Amino acid sequence: MIDLHVHTARCGHAYGDVPDYIRNADRIGMDVVAMTDHLPLPPSLLAVNPRAAGYAMAEQELADYVQDVLKARDAAALDGGPTVLLGIEADHIPGEEAHVSRLLEQYPFDVVLGSVHMIDGWAFDDPERMEDYARWDIGELWDRYFAQVAQAAASGLFDVMGHTDLVKKFGYIPEDGNDERYRTLAGALAEAGVAIEVNTAGLRKPCAELYPALPLLKAFFDAGVPATIGSDAHSPEEVGYGYDLAVEALREAGYSSVCYFRSRVLQEVGL
Ligand code: ZN
Ligand code: FE
Ligand code: FE
Ligand code: ZN
Repeated sequence: MIDLHVHTARCGHAYGDVPDYIRNADRIGMDVVAMTDHLPLPPSLLAVNPRAAGYAMAEQELADYVQDVLKARDAAALDGGPTVLLGIEADHIPGEEAHVSRLLEQYPFDVVLGSVHMIDGWAFDDPERMEDYARWDIGELWDRYFAQVAQAAASGLFDVMGHTDLVKKFGYIPEDGNDERYRTLAGALAEAGVAIEVNTAGLRKPCAELYPALPLLKAFFDAGVPATIGSDAHSPEEVGYGYDLAVEALREAGYSSVCYFRSRVLQEVGL
């Protein structure tokens, strides 16, 4: 079992510290766990959006976060626990690539998830900002979101693209079908050489399904995009959440292996 997407209390909207998550991972027999808390957001965004301080850890927390994970990695190695990877989930905000690379190059990350949580500064996954959906044509919103995910992948900053159809979180889904959108995104991610995750957090949200939806996962498989599995745990008991459903979806899409990353190099494991 692998879980490549796990948060901690440092981001301001999750519960529990690194050892709490690793203890639960060990309890359920997890083999590989990547801690991937939210990378500090760029100062330019924090200056204009008062809610953004609650979306990610503060910049002065990053060094301590890394130390916590490295300590937990050594402790788990000593007592036969899971393999612990040093990861991070970084927002892709167009124009802020230098902020991300400046922070990434300071630490020996194993894996970097790239996620789009914002469009023009609107955190479309924040329940407190849901009223803004009314301002969009949903098809145009999806086009815009997928274009930004493709742009993020092409930046070369990331190993895995996070929750690749997060835009469906609250159930705003275009009625005209998404086959073309899915094919285009899968082609772009294949070309960029990134992996995707099957993220089980969607099961716990109003959309009530995995990210990505099965037809998008099939498009990724057809395009040759490697896949991993992540719970996006924001509390320790969510580690490994929905694991069997993720495996089932991967198999149904055609996958017979998944991946994780060590020092940012892809490792393949059989499903
Ligand atoms: Zn989060
Ligand atoms: Fe995310
Ligand atoms: Fe996350
Ligand atoms: Zn996430």
